[in-house]
Amino acid sequence: MSETGRAWIELNRNHLRHNITLLRNILPAKCELMPAVKANAYGHGATLIAKELNQLGIHTFCVACISEGIQLRENGITGDILILGYTAPSDFPLLSTYHLMQTVVDFSYAKQLNAYGKPLKVHLKIDTGMHRLGEWYQHTDNIRHVFLYKNLTVTGMYTHLCVVDDPSKKEYTDQQIYHFYELVRKLKHAGIAIPKLHIQSSYGVLQRPDLQCDYARIGIAMYGVFSTALAQPMLALRPVLSVKARVETIKTLSAGESTGYGLHFTAQRKTVIAVIAIGYADGIPRSLSCNVGSVLLHGKKVPIVGRICMDQLTVDITAVPNISAGDIATIIGQDHNAEISVCDIAGQTASISNEVLSRLGTRLTRLVV
Ligand SMILES: *Cc1c(COP(=O)(O)O)cnc(C)c1O
Repeated sequence: MSETGRAWIELNRNHLRHNITLLRNILPAKCELMPAVKANAYGHGATLIAKELNQLGIHTFCVACISEGIQLRENGITGDILILGYTAPSDFPLLSTYHLMQTVVDFSYAKQLNAYGKPLKVHLKIDTGMHRLGEWYQHTDNIRHVFLYKNLTVTGMYTHLCVVDDPSKKEYTDQQIYHFYELVRKLKHAGIAIPKLHIQSSYGVLQRPDLQCDYARIGIAMYGVFSTALAQPMLALRPVLSVKARVETIKTLSAGESTGYGLHFTAQRKTVIAVIAIGYADGIPRSLSCNVGSVLLHGKKVPIVGRICMDQLTVDITAVPNISAGDIATIIGQDHNAEISVCDIAGQTASISNEVLSRLGTRLTRLVV
């Protein structure tokens, strides 16, 4: 089967390398990247991306859940893999089998991990203000105890910033960082050997590249896009991913004829429609239907008309001559001088790039170009 037969994702290797270089350059020399390859590497394809990163000397990754870690191992990815979320006690044996590092999501979870009775490597998560996962930073005694559990090797300790993308809330971020390092200081004082530390995700790196950490959990920025079009930090990142699909057929509608489910588009005059081989099951938001979104054909932007279907969408190509079946439509990416960015789509669908990307379907083939 041809990878570019119907609808596919192209990953630009040079752009990925460029982004990695830029991010490494703004961080202190001792800080390594720990790329987030969760959610199928934000839709890009976890194994493909992890293999590319391995070639760039990156051997530490984070994922959301154990199935994502196992998938990487089964596809030959070596090095450290940290699970950021919860793993059920019934799956603890798999942590050992696949050599995965588990996040300690709070103190009682540490007890459960220790009670499993076999050695496990863990990173201890500290809640410094997001109030999602992590043991409260104030609970120094509990935190100290986790280091003393005989079955747990604490190889890392981390926190997560929740408003670092918003400079107007800088004080809150500063407090989070302060509490984290205060805890480190107290643990050191109590004789605990301090493990690897990490705080920043993408916006943390962009706003606070100066932090002295061992790792940066880099996600969206590595993929070369910002979460929203607003207040983009000044780093010349390049988008790694493009989405493309074939024109399946072309139809000419007379004035008054309609197309698609619900007949939501009615031709006002003679109108040429192209049917494109991609739909919402591939992750194209259905809310781009009916003139909200566009695609690129022959370097021109053409509007999506009618409702997006599960496997197809239709565009009005009346203004662009000479399109034929088999031509390539760009759904996300660049075609000649025209571009549709992930941010554009996020803006049109009241979302963020992260969501648009991570929903891209498994039916799309993925190739590195
Ligand atoms: C997803 C995730 C990241 C990566 O976030 P980006 O904003 O995409 O860089 C980092 N840390 C944690 C805990 C995450 O869940």
